[in-house]
Amino acid sequence: MSTMRAIVYHGPGRKAWEEVPLPTVQADTDAVVKVDTVTICGTDLHILGGDVAAVTDGRVLGHEAVGTVTEVGPGVKNVRVGDRVLVSCITACGACRYCRAGSYGQCIGGGGWILGHRIDGTQAGFVRVPFADTSTYAVPDGVTDEEVLMLADIGPTGFEVGVLNGRVSPGDVVAVVGAGPVGLSAIMGAKLFSPAHVVAIDLADARLEAAKQFGADITLNPAREDVVAVVRDLTQGLGADVAIEAVGVAATFEQCAQLVRPGGRVANVGVHGGPATLHLEDLWIRNVTITTGLVDTYSTPTLLRLLATHQVDLARFVTHRFAMGEFIEAYDTFARAADTRALKVVVTA
Ligand code: NAD
Ligand code: ZN
Repeated sequence: MSTMRAIVYHGPGRKAWEEVPLPTVQADTDAVVKVDTVTICGTDLHILGGDVAAVTDGRVLGHEAVGTVTEVGPGVKNVRVGDRVLVSCITACGACRYCRAGSYGQCIGGGGWILGHRIDGTQAGFVRVPFADTSTYAVPDGVTDEEVLMLADIGPTGFEVGVLNGRVSPGDVVAVVGAGPVGLSAIMGAKLFSPAHVVAIDLADARLEAAKQFGADITLNPAREDVVAVVRDLTQGLGADVAIEAVGVAATFEQCAQLVRPGGRVANVGVHGGPATLHLEDLWIRNVTITTGLVDTYSTPTLLRLLATHQVDLARFVTHRFAMGEFIEAYDTFARAADTRALKVVVTA
C-alpha cells in the first residue's frame, strides 16, 4: 500500500477526500505517525474561506491529531515506533532563537505552524511530523486519545493566546467574544484564575449554551443585546478587565476594543483574513494593551498535567464522531455548528 486518503485543499471553497501518496521520513529528525484521531479547526474553515494565502492547491489540511508512530528518522531520540503521541499544531526545531525562548509558533528553524499550512497535515491516514522529538508529546496514561486531541490546538490556543496573553487575574471580568472551541477553551482556562465574571458573546445560541457549561456566568447574543452596555453596567461603567477575541473578523476585534476598560487588555486570538480598524483616536488615552499571537504550545505539558489530574474536562468538547470515510460530512457538521450544535468533531481511523 503506497497511497492513503486525505482531505486535500483545492483552492477557496474546494476540498476533496482523495488518494495521495503515503508520507515518508525525509529528514533525520522526522517521524511518520499513523493518525488515530483527528479533528477540524476553525482555522481550517478560514483556509477554505480563502483567508490563509500560504495554503496552496494540493495541500493536505489539518494540524491536530493523536496517533501512533510508525517510522522515525535516525536523528529522532525520544520518540519510538509504536509510541502514542499528540501531534501538536506547532512544530518546533527546538534550536532557533524563538524556540530557545519557548516561542515555538515563531520558529525560524523550519517549524512553527507548518502542518496543514506549509506542509501536508493530519487530516489523512498518516502524517509526516518534522522535528518529532520537540513537536510531539507522549499521551499520558489514564486519558483518552480524544481528550488529548483537544490539546493539539484549541487547549493551548485559548489558554496562551487568550488567557495568559490577556493576563487574566483573580477577580477579573473577562469577556470572550466567540464561543467556538477556541473561545470555550479560553473560558475554561480563565476559570483556573477565579475571575469575578466570565461573559461569553456569540451570535449562535447553541454556542452560548455551551459557554454556560464551560463556566461562563453571563451569555450575550449581539443580535439581540447591546453587549457593550451590558458589560459596562456590570463593571461600574468601566468595561471588562480582559476582552478575548476568538472569532477572527473585524467587527469582533473592534467590539473587544470597545468592551475593555481603561488599563485593560485585549487579547486577539482569531485568525483574520482582512484588516480591522484600530480606533487609536479613542484608545490612545485609555492605557489599553492589545496582544496578538499565534499559539506557541509552550503550555501543552501543563495542560496535559491538568488533564491527567482532572483539573480540566476536555471530553466535553467532543460533540460528534465520524469515521475517516465520513470526513466530508464531519466538515459539513462543523461548518454548520449553529444548526448542528457541533463543538469539536472527532474523526477516527
Ligand atoms: P469557530 O468558527 O468554531 O468559532 C467561531 C465562533 O464565532 C462561532 O461560534 C460563531 O458563531 C462566532 N461568531 C461569528 N461571528 C460573530 C460575531 N460577529 N460576534 C460574535 N460571535 C461571532 O472557530 P474556533 O475553532 O473556535 O476558532 C476561533 C478563532 O480562533 C478562529 O478565527 C480560528 O482561526 C482562530 N485560531 C487562532 C489560533 C491562534 O494561534 N491564534 C489557533 C487556532 C484557532
Ligand atoms: Zn525553532
